[in-house]
Amino acid sequence: MSLEADGNNIDKNIYVIRPIQYLALYLVDMKIVILSRNAALYSTQSIVRAARRRGHDVKVVDHMYADIHVERNNLVVEYFGQRLDDVDAVIPRIGASATEYGAAVIRQFEGSGVFTTLKSSSLLNSRDKMRCLQILASNGIHIPRSAMTNNLSSVDRLLDIIGSVPWVIKLLVSTQGLGVVKAETRPTAKSIFESFYRLKQKALLQEYIGEAGGEDIRVLVIGGQIAASMSRKSAGGDFRSNLHRGGRSTPVRLTSKEEAIARRVTRVLDLDVAGVDILRSKRGPLVLEANASPGLEGIETTTGIDISNKILQLVERKVRQRK
Ligand code: ADP
Repeated sequence: MSLEADGNNIDKNIYVIRPIQYLALYLVDMKIVILSRNAALYSTQSIVRAARRRGHDVKVVDHMYADIHVERNNLVVEYFGQRLDDVDAVIPRIGASATEYGAAVIRQFEGSGVFTTLKSSSLLNSRDKMRCLQILASNGIHIPRSAMTNNLSSVDRLLDIIGSVPWVIKLLVSTQGLGVVKAETRPTAKSIFESFYRLKQKALLQEYIGEAGGEDIRVLVIGGQIAASMSRKSAGGDFRSNLHRGGRSTPVRLTSKEEAIARRVTRVLDLDVAGVDILRSKRGPLVLEANASPGLEGIETTTGIDISNKILQLVERKVRQRK
């Protein structure tokens, strides 16, 4: 019988023991591993500082130099010959050049029951733009009409299905707007797609959302809650609003619909930390993608919100729940 079930049997010690247990869990430092290719990057530094401020033992591990070995019930990660043992949580910051191996390293931690702010499956699902759009669309989330083909003879037909001139052609794994091109004419659209195809670079075709006016919204969602949002406006005649492409950012107030969509995107992709990109269109908010390792510099400096601290709070909450 549970102690709480019968008022007469309530153990008086509970009032002493429980708070002490909870206090202990708060005070115990966690051993946190940040997977990042470059410890000097703003985002990595920001998370390291937040972790140290909160009293944790934090180590930056370049996942491309992490070795993994697997046997029955034993999934080991080694870093320069040292086993990474007793890790409480992993915060992966995996760039596009290291997705597959990064996912393998995360999976190794998952297999040992370590909490990670980014699951390997979520990384793979969100990194590939078409896979991400397929998951969003199948969950009823509005996206720009998009297409993909393995046959050059289908391109004309697909361009007609998704919209009319201009069109956007994107590499499936582009980041920071590189590999995202606007084609002003049909022959240009076809020749860009054909060039990617010949170079064996997978690409998708997408309708161009002109009314967004070169602006998009980046929403940071942490643990299912909206943490911060900013709008990014392209500069110099570019249609891409990425800050790396010269875009300017300002804090933005989201509509309740945009908030609900951003949260839903992270739910269907099972992302604990994500940057959800939204275009404001005539048809309402359209989701471009969810970034599983969102850059923190732009959003922290634009909004003044300490995103890293929020990530650490999430990690503490999740690790505590597990314990
Ligand atoms: P990346 O992941 O490389 O940043 P995105 O798909 O987010 O690639 O595209 C980069 C930028 O280009 C977006 O932030 C947005 O400003 C613009 N953009 C992308 N797709 C469209 C589209 N279909 N219509 C209008 N603008 C777009």
